[in-house]
Amino acid sequence: MSKELANLVFPNIDKTPEYYEELYPKRNLSDGAVVTRFAPSPTGFIHIGSLFTANFASRFARQTNGVYYLRIEDTDGKREVEDGINVIINGLKVFDVKFDEGPVDENNQVGNYGPYIQSQRKEIYQAFAKSLIEKGLAYPCFCTEEELDKIRERQEKLKIRPGYYGEFAACRKMSEAQMIERINNGEKFIVRLKSPGNPNKKVRYTDLIRGVIEFPENDQDIVIIKSDGLPTYHFAHAVDDHLMRTTHVIRGEEWISSVPLHLQLFEMLGFELPTYVHMPTIMKDDNGSKRKISKRKDPEAAASYYKENGIPKEAVLDYLLNILNSNYELWRKENPKASSFDFVISPEKISVSGAMFDLVKLADVSKNTIANFTAEEVYTQGLEWAEEFDKELAELMKKYEAFTKGILNIERTGTKVRKDIAKWSDLRDNLEYLYDEVFFEKEHEDEWQNVTDKETIKAILEEYLKVYDENDDKDTWFNKMKDVSEKFGFAREVKEYKKNPESFKGHVGDVSTVIRVALTGRRNTPDLYEILKQLGRERIVKRFERI
Ligand code: GLU
Repeated sequence: MSKELANLVFPNIDKTPEYYEELYPKRNLSDGAVVTRFAPSPTGFIHIGSLFTANFASRFARQTNGVYYLRIEDTDGKREVEDGINVIINGLKVFDVKFDEGPVDENNQVGNYGPYIQSQRKEIYQAFAKSLIEKGLAYPCFCTEEELDKIRERQEKLKIRPGYYGEFAACRKMSEAQMIERINNGEKFIVRLKSPGNPNKKVRYTDLIRGVIEFPENDQDIVIIKSDGLPTYHFAHAVDDHLMRTTHVIRGEEWISSVPLHLQLFEMLGFELPTYVHMPTIMKDDNGSKRKISKRKDPEAAASYYKENGIPKEAVLDYLLNILNSNYELWRKENPKASSFDFVISPEKISVSGAMFDLVKLADVSKNTIANFTAEEVYTQGLEWAEEFDKELAELMKKYEAFTKGILNIERTGTKVRKDIAKWSDLRDNLEYLYDEVFFEKEHEDEWQNVTDKETIKAILEEYLKVYDENDDKDTWFNKMKDVSEKFGFAREVKEYKKNPESFKGHVGDVSTVIRVALTGRRNTPDLYEILKQLGRERIVKRFERI
């Protein structure tokens, strides 16, 4: 009898679950290999939480010689946008998240477990739904929106939990003959699970991050196939993760409450259970209170924010790994130049209480990350950003390529490494004053009028040019600075000045300031000796002459 009903519900489905079991055999992987996936809806947007999860999942698979695949969950037509698949693939590629299987663009897919786009898997879901109907584990439901509204109203009045279950599951009680008749009459229907659950009983499962979790059993007759013939998330999750031979379902914690239903579905379908890993939600501090990072309120919720704002992907990844495993920070300190892929992540070390995300902390991490780049890397990545977001700076960087790299190389090695770039947009401030085009456009008077009087400034600069030799090593250079200081009544040493401030106009540091400001228009710059060397005599003279 159920066979007749199943054939009537899915007249065009001739394949069986056995057929698909054979088509997608168990994967031949080494012990402990993790097969996991990224399963986004193509909404045209990658949330920082998704990036957090994908960054973990892809590394986890890679670390175990497993498989990381992309599955596009496009069964909810309302949420999709054009080009959604490319946005996902390209958006994640920026952060080194790559897939072993799945769609590679709108038209092509790789891997033996496809198609990896749910809308192309309609027949597969229907074959499994059909077999559930045959076994009496699912049924067509004819309830209209109005009828469902009435059920909801009744439940509200009675103050009991909402849903299609027990006495409220009207179509569940219908005889098969009745169902067959209504289908034959051309009535519209969807397919529901005939849940065997009892909410007074408990189910338990072990989450890899959270440990043992206990829930009441599911008793909702949830929709498995919608009126458009496509599956709901829950049903697709069970069928796809089984057939694609997923070992670990890594997803956001908003799915935890659905686990009882998923356990039930897996059992009813006769599938082996995957390991569940529910990732913490990304939170932020909003004036002292903790809340979810939100697509609507927080620009940093978008994975694309970081590129636009010139925060290098290495920094974002370092920071996301800090949030993921608290021992990463120390590892990074000990291995400043290593690839983050050398770090072994542990799911057990993921915090369960929500991951705090803080742009100030990220900027801090980013300064360290960039401090570990070579000047060449800073130049290349900085220029790439500038080409898109600060064209004027890009032109200057290209015009003075060697000079720019020389400047970027100052204090980049050795014990005192500069940490003054948190994002590529900081490069403008770090570089522009050194380019003639910008330097000569501005007056720098205020910067140094309080160091000493104008006459002395002029005299110092004149004298300095006389003694300056580009070939001097740093000690010789500094001794000459001291000589110049002495000549104009400044102390050779700061200590000397401090002992007897009345006897001097100032000290050697003030003379350095005079030269620094004359050359750069600023009181704070990287190492002056190095800047002089990079500028070269000709530029130095030109800049001094201005005064
Ligand atoms: N498509 C689901 C989502 O957007 C995926 C959840 C999962 O990874 O199973 O959240």
